[in-house]
Formats: sequence, C-alpha cells, structure tokens
Amino acid sequence: MATPDLINLSALINDAKCFALVRQHRWPEGVRCPACSSSTVVRDGFDETQAHRQRYRCKTCAGRFDDLTGTVLAGHHQPLRVWVLCLYFMGLNRKRGRFPGGAIAPAGVA
Ligand SMILES: [Zn+2]
Repeated sequence: MATPDLINLSALINDAKCFALVRQHRWPEGVRCPACSSSTVVRDGFDETQAHRQRYRCKTCAGRFDDLTGTVLAGHHQPLRVWVLCLYFMGLNRKRGRFPGGAIAPAGVA
C-alpha cells in the first residue's frame, strides 16, 4: 500500500492548515492548558509573526500559551519547521495514534 504522505503534501502547504493539524493532534478533545490541564481556556488572539498560530489564556491558572507551547517548535518562528512538524505528526499519528508530547524531534530538524 502506498504511503499517502506525498498526496497530502499539497493539501498542507499553507500555515493555516498546518496549525489546524497541530491543534487537532495535540488536543483531539479540545484545547487544554499545558500548565494545569484545565479545559477552561479562551482564545487570546494570534501570534504577531505567525498569523495562524492561535494563542490562548487559561481561566484557571491565568497562564498563557499557544499552539506550539511545549512542543519542539516553541520559540521558533519558522513556518518551515511548523510544516515539518505537521508531517511528523501525521506519520506518528498513523503509527502510534497519539501525541508525543513534544519529546521527540524529527531527525535533522531540531
Ligand atoms: Zn492553566
């Protein structure tokens, strides 16, 4: 059976879809605060340099975080890295069916 990754490349080529995919894999049951695990989270605008990077504010601990907080890409503002992460999540999800918690970086990327 052929891998669908190459077919999906064209569908993922924009940042909006990359971030949506990251969110979907990271929080399949809704956004949760990485600090206290609360689901009482409100959207708090977008990143200044990455228009599709959603920011959030936790109403339980007042912490702020965004789509990439706690992942290997936090602190980086390079869309290509996000892009690579998306592909990584896709492959990982297929194999293991769960989010890795940002503990593992794709080889040669970090
Ligand atoms: Zn919190």
